[in-house]
Parts: sequence; C-alpha cells; structure tokens
Amino acid sequence: MTDTIIALSTPPGSGAIGVIRLSGPDAITLANEVFAGKNLAEQASHTLHFGLIKNGEVIIDEVVMGLFVAPTSYTKENVVEISCHGSNYIIQQIMNLLISKGARAAKPGEFTLRAFLNGAFDLSQAEAVADLIASDSKASHDIALQQMRGGFSNELKDLREQLIHFASMIELELDFAEEDVEFANRDQLRNLVSRLTSHIAILISSFEVGNVLKNGVPVVIAGKPNVGKSTLLNALLNEERAIVSDIAGTTRDTIEDELNINGVIFRFIDTAGIRDTADIIEAKGVERTLEKMKQAKLIIYMADATQSLNELEEQLIGLQKLDIPYLILLNKADLLTAAQREAFAALEVHFISAREKQGIEELKDILLDKVNLHHINTSETLLTNIRHVEALKQTESALERVMSNIDNPVTSDFLAMDIKQALHYLGEITGQVTTDDLLENIFTKFCIGK
Ligand code: GDP
Repeated sequence: MTDTIIALSTPPGSGAIGVIRLSGPDAITLANEVFAGKNLAEQASHTLHFGLIKNGEVIIDEVVMGLFVAPTSYTKENVVEISCHGSNYIIQQIMNLLISKGARAAKPGEFTLRAFLNGAFDLSQAEAVADLIASDSKASHDIALQQMRGGFSNELKDLREQLIHFASMIELELDFAEEDVEFANRDQLRNLVSRLTSHIAILISSFEVGNVLKNGVPVVIAGKPNVGKSTLLNALLNEERAIVSDIAGTTRDTIEDELNINGVIFRFIDTAGIRDTADIIEAKGVERTLEKMKQAKLIIYMADATQSLNELEEQLIGLQKLDIPYLILLNKADLLTAAQREAFAALEVHFISAREKQGIEELKDILLDKVNLHHINTSETLLTNIRHVEALKQTESALERVMSNIDNPVTSDFLAMDIKQALHYLGEITGQVTTDDLLENIFTKFCIGK
C-alpha cells in the first residue's frame, strides 16, 4: 500500500469534535506539513499533541493529533487521528488541505481492509468490526465482540489445522503412489472428518439463532381492522407512533418498529397490507400479504375479546395453515366479565387490554418465551453472517465426499482434492483464501472512515 488515505471517522454533521483519520506511509509526514506544533516525526507512538492546523498562514483549527506509528496501529500502517472541532466547514477544510498535499479519500471500509491485508486480524474478525458498529442490542453486541476478538476464527483455525495435517499426509501418499503406502491413517481420518462434520453442523445451525439475535425477531401483528393492533404497538413501544383511529382500516402508514426486550430485539415488520385485508386468508389477492407474513418468526394474532369463540376459531383455521408460530391475543379484555373470559378456556389465548395497558408486561415475557432465546449463551459461537454459513455448507459437502471416498476405496487423488476443497472453503471464512471480488463485497458494505 503506497498511498495514504484519509476519511472522517466520526459521523458527518456537526458535533463537539470530529475525528479525521489518516493512514499510510506518509500519514505522519502529511500531518506534519499542516501542523503547527511539535514535529510529529520525532514523537513516540501512541501520544497526543496539541497544536494548530494551518493552510499557509491561515489558521483552520486548534486540534489534537493522535499518533500511531506503524506497525502498532489499527491498520498496522502509520496512522494519525486528528481531533478537530466538529464543524462541517473545518472538517472539509482539513480534509481538502491534506488531499491537496497528497492524501487520497478513503473508500468505504478501506481502513479495515488494510488492517486485514496487513494481518491485524482475519476476515471474519474484520466483518465483526462492521457488526459491532451496527449492533444495537446486548445480544448483537456480545456476538460481534466475541467474533471480533477471534472466538470463531480460533475455532475454525483449529479445524483447519487438523485437516491440513491429513492433507499433507495424503499428498505424501501421492508422491509414493507406486508403492501403495498409506501415511494417512484412514480410521483417524474418518474420525476427524466426522468430528469436523458435527462441529460444522452445530455452527451452521447456530445461524438461525445468531441471525435472529443480530437482526431482531421479525414479528407480525395481524388481525382484523379495529381489534386494537395499533393501540398495542403503541403500548409496546410506549409512544404514539401509529395512528389509532376508530374507523376500520384507516391505519395505512407503514409501521416498522423495534422493541428491545431484555436485550432481544423484536422487529415489527410492516403489516399495512395485512391490516387492510379483512381476513388474512379469505381475502383475495393476499399473496403479497402472505409473503410478508412468511418473513415473520412469530405472528401475534389479535382478535376482539368481545366476539364469540366460534368466530375466533374460524379465523384460526387460516392462521394455522401458515405454519408459523403464533400467539393469540384477545384484546379489549376490559370489556369482559370473568364468565365471558371462561368461554375461551378451550383455547390458549392471552387477554390484554391494549388501551388500558393491561397485560403488556406479561405479553413481553410471553414474547421472550415464544422465541425461546433464554438459554442462548452469547459467549458461544453463533453465526450471524450468511457468507460464513454458505462457506461452511460447502465445507460440509466437501467433507461428505471425503467420507465417502475413505469408505469406497478409490485413489488418493480424489481424497486429496476433496480435502483441499474443504480447506479452501474454511479458508474463505477467515480470509486465508480470498479473491478481489470477495473482499470488495465485504468491505464496500462498511461505512467510510472505518
Ligand atoms: P387496529 O385497526 O387493529 O389498529 O385498531 P386500533 O388500535 O386503531 O383500535 C381500534 C379501536 O379500538 C380504537 O378506538 C381503540 O381505542 C380501541 N381499543 C384498542 N384497544 C382497546 C382496549 O384494550 N379496550 C377497549 N375498550 N378499546 C380498545
């Protein structure tokens, strides 16, 4: 990397301070050129220096320069972090000045890309940096932090190293093909492959939970117009987000909101379409609505408690066909007598009064119970990245081929090839094996300045 890159690393807009980051061989020289203060080239790494940034004789700002000398920096290059006053004007002036001196505007994720290319961490750790920045709940934070600190990478490294050992033994056999020798003990190999396969299967299956923890549990609140869905959403979110109206079907604005219950995010996906159709199954043209419903991990089906058990049961027939976990809420329970509640005893229903805010806390507990995430230990490896899942699935099928090749006596060539394939896909996760496309795909999703 010969060029020195620059970007604003704090969010754009005005704030108390803005941090501009420079990274590359000339970071310190360039900073020195515009800095009226100590000679940065003579200062120790990991030190801060107060001074002025000047464009010729014109003072732009009073700043603090943070100095990180290669290789002990985030990118392992020379890095200077300029903390200036957080005005857009100042930030632009400083950036333009340094660009005129020879720095180049960084692309999204380029600092982290450099850190990866310079061996500061592997690819899955780099991806976790982006996840960490995006994390907005304890669960997603815990998972990202664990991955960034290398938990997942170490696990894969172990798996990979064990396989590499066998790969080299098999290669050796190929060299001695004439002599019909077996360096790689087939029983041991079989044993290893079956251990790897079950480990990988666990990792793959952890994605379901990991994904939910990272992105939230998609929930749909469904039910006929006027049963109180908007009122419930308001009660849950504790604010007047949705429009509550007395006229059936008037809630047409998109409602997509998030609720954090004990660190688990519940994402209420847009159900405008559902609200507009009288019945989720009977109404015509509900395909798109159904598509929405199918994205849900859980459906909260809301009905009016003042209707009859029969009416409710009819609605449930359609709901059951969806094959998505659901929970039945009977709203407006404030209008019921105890005897009327008894009428629903045959069904598992929960009574609430969204308007009177009765049963809301219990509902939150039920929601947590339904998604069954209590037992999840976020310090265990939970996959949250679909790219990793895909690579592990490929590894899995390569290992299946290895297994069948051990059992059906074939030449070692096939065995070697499939083991190499497995190694290849494992390596794609951590970045021992990369392509430009892969890197571009990953790092362009980062924000600029990271
Ligand atoms: P939506 O069409 O399902 O979103 O229903 P809304 O939330 O707009 O509510 C429809 C009407 O029912 C409004 O007049 C609400 O005030 C009323 N409502 C909502 N929840 C309750 C409740 O718990 N008890 C009673 N009595 N009325 C409610």
